[in-house]
Amino acid sequence: MLAVKEVLDLPPETIEERFNLLPNEGCCYTGFGYPSDDVGGAVSLYTNRDSLSLALFGQVDMVAAGGVSLHSKYIQLKEHPFIHACVKGSTLREYQAHIISDGGRIRLKDTVGNGVILCGDASGFNNVVYVGVPPGMACGMMAAETVERALKKNDFRRKTLKQYLALMKEKTTLVESHAEARKQSIWFSKRRPKLKQYRSTIASVLDNYTYNVSTFMGKERPSSGGVLYHGIIKDLLPAPLRWIVSPFVRKGTDVALTMDYDSVADVGREDRMASVIIQKGTHPHIKVDGSACPECDNRQCIVSCPAGNYEWNEQDGTILFNHEGCLECGTCRYICDSVDWSYPSHGMGVRFRWG
Ligand SMILES: Cc1cc2nc3c(=O)[nH]c(=O)nc-3n(C[C@H](O)[C@H](O)[C@H](O)COP(=O)(O)OP(=O)(O)OC[C@H]3O[C@@H](n4cnc5c(N)ncnc54)[C@H](O)[C@@H]3O)c2cc1C
Ligand code: SF4
Ligand code: SF4
Repeated sequence: MLAVKEVLDLPPETIEERFNLLPNEGCCYTGFGYPSDDVGGAVSLYTNRDSLSLALFGQVDMVAAGGVSLHSKYIQLKEHPFIHACVKGSTLREYQAHIISDGGRIRLKDTVGNGVILCGDASGFNNVVYVGVPPGMACGMMAAETVERALKKNDFRRKTLKQYLALMKEKTTLVESHAEARKQSIWFSKRRPKLKQYRSTIASVLDNYTYNVSTFMGKERPSSGGVLYHGIIKDLLPAPLRWIVSPFVRKGTDVALTMDYDSVADVGREDRMASVIIQKGTHPHIKVDGSACPECDNRQCIVSCPAGNYEWNEQDGTILFNHEGCLECGTCRYICDSVDWSYPSHGMGVRFRWG
């Protein structure tokens, strides 16, 4: 899952008034559907003391295949009536982008090696239930305890570091859910094409039930029953039954919502990138082998990179890539085998400063 996010400055009094909060209180909204329904995505909006964090998520492969960047969807998101009312008048503090792993690909036994313990996003201990910071913190605590013991023995062999897994098992439920996440991941990757077909239908139905954050703008809202029938059930029925039933299950419409207000002034990608601190390294941390680019079908790197680092050069038919503005989100590493990706050397690269 790729996320693009902005931290938006807003005075504390305005935040308290808009979100109905007392001083030192905060709140969080999560939404599904528009504008990330076709990329299997979601929205999160949470308050900080003197800023808001607004993030838009999308499945990396769906963003890449869809040909519409998450960045442009983010601009749509800020025009959504509910989101607009929350963020209007705010100013950009920092732009961010990152991938969040949903775990499962790594085998449990590979999370520990000689001199190595994998934690958090790198470890595969995330899944749809336990995602993000909590499993990251649990891993960190167990790893710290293991390293403390290893230091006392001055022994960092895998045999000793396996204590990490024993502690995880004893003190958390993450070991069981690691196995479950791996099973789910394999299940999903096998059925991905079929699921992709149904995902936008499921998102539309969800959209109808998450009315607050996901309201259609200026579109007719199809009824959930109609969407569900025409999107999924119809395909599963034998043809004769389909012909009989379909005319009676109309897609239908209920509410058509249009809003009339001043657009949010978008700052544009250049200003977004100017809000990020990037310490330039001496060597490129990403190298692109351009030999496959002229034959590449959809040049997914161009729409997928949230920093806009990939461009197609029409004149000489090559891909132009600039590693210097890299947000280290990891997307191009995931989508393209021609990308040779590593983190910048220690102390270099991007530094996100705000939550
Ligand atoms: C937009 C967005 C919103 C999110 N919202 C939530 C949320 O609301 N709740 C939630 O629970 N989770 C959320 N998550 C997920 C959560 O942030 C991550 O799952 C979590 O931060 C993972 O923690 P980690 O310690 O494994 O990795 P990270 O937080 O990514 O930490 C890895 C660290 O390693 C450093 N590093 C990398 N390479 C090197 C190197 N070579 N040398 C030294 N240091 C290096 C990086 O700079 C980084 O500080 C969100 C993620 C995103 C992108
Ligand atoms: S780097 Fe080249 S091969 Fe890879 S997605 Fe971009 S255009 Fe295609
Ligand atoms: S170059 Fe790759 S890793 Fe860097 S921001 Fe773009 S997609 Fe993310």
